[in-house]
Amino acid sequence: MSQRVAIYPGSFDPPTNGHLDIVERSSRLFDRVVIGVGRNLTKKTVFDADERVALMRDACKKFANVEVRSFDGLQVEFAKQSGASFIIRGIRALSDFEFEFEMGNMNRRLAPNIEMVYLMTAPEYLFLSASRVKELVAFGAPVDSYVPANVAKALKAHSGQGGLRTGATESND
Ligand code: ADP
Repeated sequence: MSQRVAIYPGSFDPPTNGHLDIVERSSRLFDRVVIGVGRNLTKKTVFDADERVALMRDACKKFANVEVRSFDGLQVEFAKQSGASFIIRGIRALSDFEFEFEMGNMNRRLAPNIEMVYLMTAPEYLFLSASRVKELVAFGAPVDSYVPANVAKALKAHSGQGGLRTGATESND
């Protein structure tokens, strides 16, 4: 029987517990999950693509069927390259829905055989976004309960270099 493979694409700047919850649930739904970290994003990121891949890899090492790669370009192309027939996205609020609905329809036009799969956020992560986390760090608030330990450490190191203020205000994910 063929394997059920899915990609989970995003910017993950940085990975949060909300992302990790989606990864964990996806790892139970699919034989293999490939997390795609967007390389050349239109939005400015605090962490470069290699850093975001390293952070996500470290945070996901407990999941045996999950791997992390960076990608450029279209989600559907990355799905094809990964041998995936599914694209996973997380949904929090109605505002996520509108954006995802548009992108999902575009993906369907581009690749009708690839199915979009939307996982609704767990209630505890409803208001959690990478942008809010960066904002909190920029203002010196603790984020340990919102991100994996390795990410909290990386954020601390980054804010020590004064690197977070710009990213927090320019990204709106
Ligand atoms: P993008 O820039 O592609 O939206 P993100 O890194 O912001 O990438 O998010 C990747 C995916 O994870 C998106 O589908 C987003 O809706 C979802 N996501 C982000 N935060 C959460 C959360 N707290 N709970 C559930 N899903 C989430």
